[in-house]
Amino acid sequence: MDYTLSEWIQLAGSGSMARAAVSAQARESGMEEAAVRDAMRRHLHCMQEAARSGLDEHLRSVSGLTGGQAAMFLKRLQEGRLLCGNLLGRAEVYALATAECNACMGKIVAAPTAGACGILPGAVLAMMEERGATEDDAVDALFTAAAVGQAIASQASISGAEGGCQAECGAAAAMAAAALTAMEGGTARQCADAAAFALMNLLGLVCDPAGGLVEVPCVYRNVGASGVAFTAADMALSGIACPIAPDEVILAMKEVGDALPASLRETGEGGCAACPSIRARLHMNTL
Ligand code: SF4
Repeated sequence: MDYTLSEWIQLAGSGSMARAAVSAQARESGMEEAAVRDAMRRHLHCMQEAARSGLDEHLRSVSGLTGGQAAMFLKRLQEGRLLCGNLLGRAEVYALATAECNACMGKIVAAPTAGACGILPGAVLAMMEERGATEDDAVDALFTAAAVGQAIASQASISGAEGGCQAECGAAAAMAAAALTAMEGGTARQCADAAAFALMNLLGLVCDPAGGLVEVPCVYRNVGASGVAFTAADMALSGIACPIAPDEVILAMKEVGDALPASLRETGEGGCAACPSIRARLHMNTL
């Protein structure tokens, strides 16, 4: 099952991208559509549990670099003091919580990867809690996201080592943008446009994990990319069409990824990973 975004739009026809993705998955797996949806529902429940466990204020990663920060973020949300408001704020809190859960070896859904695991759940769970989206709406949104993720993986990459963080957090933001657009009643074309806007805004993002650990800057990028996803969805839902064919943005991402030097593709040698303060902190923590 390898489809481009334009093929997903065609498959959706006058229906939704989610509906097309469920049918395609059922065809490919030989499972009933209801069973395919149940499997996705289990992923949603796993996402909810990961976000919940990442909110533990006592959580700490083995390196000591991350953990407990989502709880700090949640406190400010609960006080009504986040500048970005409750919907995006909650999405960002859950994105950070999920990413911290991953950094602390908890169970997450790689959507599309462990490093970028917070962006999609944050968006979908926030829509359920803040906008009254149902569990069925959320499952549909995850199928929309899955279609977008598949289109990116098959035409470019979802690996930071291969294409930089644009391929991980960029792809996750594209998936979340499409999911949000679908949850707000957008068409399949608008979902593709939202995905393209998100990817466009994160094009060139390098993969530079300090110490080779999926913590810094990874957990914070999950938060920032959440904001990109909401912005991209809002543009698409406003009727703004992406001026570049969405699949071409994916191909541009691949071209940029191929041009990145090895030091910026998960080797931990460049970018944030090369900054003296984080290197010193990692050295101290391992003494
Ligand atoms: S910086 Fe690299 S390891 Fe970290 S989330 Fe991005 S792609 Fe993954």
